[in-house]
Amino acid sequence: MTRILLCLLLAAVSLSAQFPTPLERSGYTKLTTNAELVEYVTMVDAAVPFIRTETMALSTGGKSIPAVIVSTGGNTEKLTVLIFAQQHGNEPSGKEGALMLLRDIAGGKLDQVLASVDLVLVPQMNPDGNDINIRRNGRGMDLNRNHLIMTEPEVIGLHELALRYAPDVTLDVHEYSPWGETWKAWGYRENADETYGTMTNINTSAALRTMQKKEFLPFIEAFLAERGFSYLEYNVGGPPNVERIRNSTVDINDGRQSFGILGAFSMIQEGMNGRDSIDNIKHRSEGQCAAMTGYLTFAAKNAERIRAEVAKARAEVKKPKKVHIQMEHVFEAPREQRYFSYASQRETTLVLTNYHTKVEPRLTVEQPKGYLVPKSDTLLADFLAKHHIVHTAYAPKKKEKVMQYRVTYGTKPVFEEFELPVSAAVKEEVKGVKGAEYWFVPVMQPHSTMLTLALEPHSMINLLQYERFAHLMKDPLYPVLRVE
Ligand SMILES: [Zn+2]
Repeated sequence: MTRILLCLLLAAVSLSAQFPTPLERSGYTKLTTNAELVEYVTMVDAAVPFIRTETMALSTGGKSIPAVIVSTGGNTEKLTVLIFAQQHGNEPSGKEGALMLLRDIAGGKLDQVLASVDLVLVPQMNPDGNDINIRRNGRGMDLNRNHLIMTEPEVIGLHELALRYAPDVTLDVHEYSPWGETWKAWGYRENADETYGTMTNINTSAALRTMQKKEFLPFIEAFLAERGFSYLEYNVGGPPNVERIRNSTVDINDGRQSFGILGAFSMIQEGMNGRDSIDNIKHRSEGQCAAMTGYLTFAAKNAERIRAEVAKARAEVKKPKKVHIQMEHVFEAPREQRYFSYASQRETTLVLTNYHTKVEPRLTVEQPKGYLVPKSDTLLADFLAKHHIVHTAYAPKKKEKVMQYRVTYGTKPVFEEFELPVSAAVKEEVKGVKGAEYWFVPVMQPHSTMLTLALEPHSMINLLQYERFAHLMKDPLYPVLRVE
C-alpha cells in the first residue's frame, strides 16, 4: 500500500517537473523572450489535452501575443477568470510567474481549482517592451492607460478576447518598484513581495468591492504567508512625508477598472520589482505565481457567489442611474503600514496620517436616455466601434428633449490626480437637431456607466483627458448631445 502511494507521489512529482519554464531551464539567469514564450505555450498546448492556445493579437512590432485557454470541461456553470500580465515590458516577473502557473496547471497541481474555474491566461501583453526591457509598447504607448481610447493592438486584442470568453473575474499583473531616491531620502521603502488592489471607482459594484476588501485581501495575505511571501494592500503616491498615499486611481483606462466598470470582479496584482530586471527573479516569479494561484483559489471557493454578484452588477450597469463623474480620495483615519527601514535594515510599522483610504463623490449626474454622437467625428465612431458600443440611427420622439452642454474651458480646478479641462458645463435645450447627422447611443447597454464617464464634458476621467480627443473642445457648445 505504502509502495503504491509512493509510486503515485513520484508520478505526480515527475508530471509537474515535465514542463520547466524557460526561466527555470536557464537556472534563473535569463528572462524569457517572446519567441521562447511562444515556443513554451505551444509545447504545453500540444502536450496537455485541456490546454490550448490562440494568438490574441500581434504587437505593433509584429510579435505574437498568445492567449492560453484552460478548461477541464465538466461543469457548465464554471466561473471564467481572465489573467493578463506584463502590460509593462520592464515588469517581467508577472510573465515568468504566469508561465510557472501554466507549468503547475499542466502538471495537474490546480485540478481542484479547475473543477470550478475556466482560465484565460495572457502571460505577456507587451512583447515589444519585454524584449528590450522598457515599460511602453513598440510605438511608445503605455498600454495600461489605453483601455478607454483603445488605440493599441495589444489592448484591443485583450478586450476582443474578453468579449469572446466573457470573464466574470479579471486580474491585471504588474510589478512595483520601491527603489526610488525620494523613498531612500525619507528613510523607508515598501517591502512586500506581493500587493493587491481592489476596484476604487465608486461607480463599480459596491458588493464586489466589499468582497474584495473584506474577504479577498485577508484571504490572499494568509495564502501568501503560508507560502513564504509577504503582502501589502496596493497603494500609490508617497513617500508619505512628500505626498499622500492612496489606493490607486479612480480612472477606468487601466487593465483593472476597464473591466470593473463593465461589472467584472476585477483586481490588480503587483509584485516587488528587483533592482534590475533579473535581480531576485526566482523569488519574484514564484511570488507572482503563488499570488495568481491564490486568486484562482479564492475564485474557485467563491465561484457561485461571485457569479451571482457579477450577474447582478452587470444588470445594474445597464439600468439608467446616477453616475459619479468626479471623485476624490479622502482621509478616514490614521493607518498602520509596514515599511523597510534603511537605517535599521529591518521592517518596521509606521502610522500614516495621510493615507487616503476612501473615495467620495464630488459631482454626480443623472444619465440621459442616450447620447447623440456626431457621425462626422471619425474618432468618436472608432471609439464606439472598438468597444462594441451599440449605436443606431436616431429617431426623435415627441416626449424627448435634446440637451447640449455649454462649456467653460480653462480654469482647471485641480483634483490631486487630475486636471479638469472644463470648469463649468451648463445644459440647455437645443431644438431642430438634424437626426440624420447623429448616432443614437442608448444608455441601456453593458457600457452604460463607462459611456457617461467617457462622454460627459465635466467628467474627470473622460475622453477630453486625451490629446486624441482635443478636437471636442473646439467650441463652447460641446458636440456630444444628451437625449433626455
Ligand atoms: Zn505596471
